Parts: sequence; structure tokens; C-alpha cells
Amino acid sequence: MSTASDYVIVGAGPTGCALGFYLARRGATVTLVESVERPESVVGESMLPGSTLVFDECGLDLSGFMVKRGAVFCRDGAAVRFDFAEAEACRYPHAWQVQREVFDLRWRDVARRAGCAIVYADATAVDVAARRLDTSAGPLTAASATPASRTPPSAPAARAWFNWRPTSPATSPSAASPAAGSGSSPSAAASPRSAW
Ligand SMILES: Cc1cc2nc3c(=O)[nH]c(=O)nc-3n(C[C@H](O)[C@H](O)[C@H](O)COP(=O)(O)OP(=O)(O)OC[C@H]3O[C@@H](n4cnc5c(N)ncnc54)[C@H](O)[C@@H]3O)c2cc1C
Repeated sequence: MSTASDYVIVGAGPTGCALGFYLARRGATVTLVESVERPESVVGESMLPGSTLVFDECGLDLSGFMVKRGAVFCRDGAAVRFDFAEAEACRYPHAWQVQREVFDLRWRDVARRAGCAIVYADATAVDVAARRLDTSAGPLTAASATPASRTPPSAPAARAWFNWRPTSPATSPSAASPAAGSGSSPSAAASPRSAW
């Protein structure tokens, strides 16, 4: 396999898929490299209200997830209640409690619908100068490279990536790919279970 695209993103978690969506929407070709085909037992299920803006922009399907309206912190018999709707400059009065194995797959749908390709392979090394990513399925080349994972292939490679400024960003707002569900609000349309 030797595929070229404008951007190669390591990790098709929520960050990688959202980044892929935004890049594809600006007309870039994007390849996501992901090692796990079916995510299981992923931590990080409790969302905060601010993330709903990104969910809505990306057209993420939130149907069936639990609405979370705030939190109660308990200690030594005392309880303090935080209601998201009472936050200053509140835009979203609630957040979501998600199942990550479902949530992550829905993020991949967002990326795919925006036109991103997803390659299932392990990213093993990066050659920044050559803009080449080695994976267990073969090399990928890109006009740019972006780590979107908490566990990048190797620490020196990650440092090089983070310091690297791509010289020719391939962005063309006029050539935007059809955005997945943009303009719609699945979170508002859904009829979720309600917590607390
Ligand atoms: C114990 C714990 C509890 C947490 N609780 C919360 C919470 O309640 N709420 C919250 O919002 N956040 C929480 N977080 C943080 C949350 O998990 C992360 O912010 C979120 O998962 C980051 O998403 P991501 O897409 O950047 O990375 P990840 O979700 O880690 O996705 C990275 C992806 O990259 C893939 N990958 C990694 N290495 C490679 C490789 N070499 N080649 C190919 N693919 C690769 C992985 O398979 C994965 O799919 C918690 C984190 C921890 C550790």
C-alpha cells in the first residue's frame, strides 16, 4: 500500500475524526490510520456541555446517549449541586454521557461521510522530511502529517511532528466536501434518556 493524501492523521478517535472532518470540509484529502477496528472499553464517557458545539457542527449522531444536566459532588455527608443550565453564558444546558465504543464508531462515520479514508493499520514510524508514515499495512505519504493520538508511534517522531510547520497547507474552502449533516442538530432531534 502506498497512498498519498493532503493529510495523514494517526488515530481515528474523536480528535482524529473531528480534525479529519474539518480538513475534508475545507477540501483536503485526508487519510486516518487506526489500529483498532472495533473499539472496546474506551475510557472517557462523560462529556461536558462545550463539546456539544463540535458534535453539532460535525453532525455527530448522539441518539440514544444519556442527557446529563449537571453533577452533584458529595463529601462527608454534604452535597454540592452544579447545574449546567446555570452556567454563565450557557449555550448548551446539558451534556452527554456516551458509550465510547459506540461514540467512537459514530465519529468514524462522521469522518467517512466527510470524505476521509480510514486505513486499519498500526502507525509504526514517521519520516517527517519525506512526509511519510510507515504502517503495518505499508507506507502512506502526505502533504502534511498530524498526530491525533495520545499514543503516537514514537516519542522522537511525535516531537518532530508537533514542531513541524507544514509549508503548503492544502486547503480550498471553495472545494468543500459535503459536510455530514452540517446545519442539522442531532442532539436536539434525538429523544434521549434523561439523567438526574
Ligand atoms: C481514566 C481516564 C478517564 C477519562 N475520563 C474522561 C471523561 O470522563 N470525559 C472526557 O471527556 N474525557 C475523559 N478522558 C479523556 C478522554 O479519554 C480523551 O480526552 C479522549 O479519548 C481523547 O480522544 P482522542 O481521539 O484524542 O484519543 P483516543 O480516544 O485515545 O484515540 C486515539 C486513537 O488512536 C489509535 N492509535 C493509537 N496509537 C496508534 C498507532 N500507533 N497507530 C494507529 N492508531 C493508533 C487508538 O486506537 C485510538 O483509537 C479520560 C481519560 C482517562 C485516561
